[in-house]
Amino acid sequence: MNVGIIGAGTMGSGIAQVASTAGCTVKLFDLNQSALDKAKAALEKILTRLIEKGRVDADEKTRIQSNISYVNTLKELSDSNVTIEAIVENIEVKKNVFIELERYVSEDCIIASNTSSLSIASIAASLQKPERCVGIHFFNPAPLMKLVEVVPAIQTSKEVLEKAKQTLLDWKKVVAVAKDTPGFIVNRVARPFYGESLRIYEEGIADFATIDYSLKTIGKFRMGPFELMDFIGNDVNYTVTETVFTAFYFDPRYKPSFTQKRFAEAGYLGRKSGKGFYDYS
Ligand code: NAD
Repeated sequence: MNVGIIGAGTMGSGIAQVASTAGCTVKLFDLNQSALDKAKAALEKILTRLIEKGRVDADEKTRIQSNISYVNTLKELSDSNVTIEAIVENIEVKKNVFIELERYVSEDCIIASNTSSLSIASIAASLQKPERCVGIHFFNPAPLMKLVEVVPAIQTSKEVLEKAKQTLLDWKKVVAVAKDTPGFIVNRVARPFYGESLRIYEEGIADFATIDYSLKTIGKFRMGPFELMDFIGNDVNYTVTETVFTAFYFDPRYKPSFTQKRFAEAGYLGRKSGKGFYDYS
């Protein structure tokens, strides 16, 4: 199977690894050459670590790496059977990419988006063949997180939904089908989790580390909310909250936080920028 991935950032590079590990031929596209270089270097590091842990051997590493090519133009994805878009969480930017992509790919190519919060129906509406569009929502880090939400839009054909589900099962993922609603399942539940943690901090009840410690030790979460927001990226996480809040007609349960907004504006994005709620330098 030929898989085209659009966007070589956190999610796109992880999804490329998942598909190439499953034996697919992958083309990873990004406008930004440094993102492609970074994705390639990150994969080398990850696979070297997996060899040290005895999880893959040298042949497997070579196979996974040689299955992926890093490309600079969208046109190079023309032979894809499935494309998965993982670029910036902005509906207009995504739509423009999808309109261009549809000019190059075959009639039966599935066009999927990894959006966390945008309407799949609205993305699908930008296509000539909206029935080929579906949400395929991986979690971060994509190679480790088993769950993938598959989100059919009202336009999505049954055949495309089934093909998307089967592809993910072939990639050893667990699939949950969710309706096309803001945040789907996991990101909707997660909004009040982050939001209430930020409000606890804003009200001076406890600092980041204390809130994280409490939820990890008592709540048995793997990561505390501030560690998780830093891991996801405060820019991405804030935008998703704002989108879900707006899409639910300003329901206060999903209200974004000024604290996180300021962190995102200041460039304190979390791990990827070296500083967020915690310091990673
Ligand atoms: P990111 O910022 O790490 O990467 C985005 C990449 O897209 C960048 O490399 C950028 O150069 C590239 N890009 C931007 N516009 C482009 C264009 N027009 N054409 C080609 N490439 C372009 O973002 P991310 O965290 O990987 O998120 C990507 C998508 O996945 C978003 O829709 C986000 O909501 C969703 N998502 C993110 C997470 C997460 O935890 N970060 C989890 C699930 C879903």
